Amino acid sequence: MDISLKSCPFCGSTHVTIGHNDSRFQRRYYFVECNVCRARTRGDAINLDDLGGLRNELDNPAVRKAVTCWNQRAVRD
Ligand SMILES: [Zn+2]
Repeated sequence: MDISLKSCPFCGSTHVTIGHNDSRFQRRYYFVECNVCRARTRGDAINLDDLGGLRNELDNPAVRKAVTCWNQRAVRD
């Protein structure tokens, strides 16, 4: 899978990054965000315990889902 991110659907910026927050219940929540207008995908979460077995970000289903969501322009709130 290609992890490249398309430009922002709202402002056209290419300053788009994958971010994450560690939440309650030992889960890490991933999203894609525009660094200019702060548009953000809803993304997905993964258990922190499951991160240890991942070789890289592409093995992380939560990252893949956030990237797919962003590239399909399915950006909501
Ligand atoms: Zn933007």
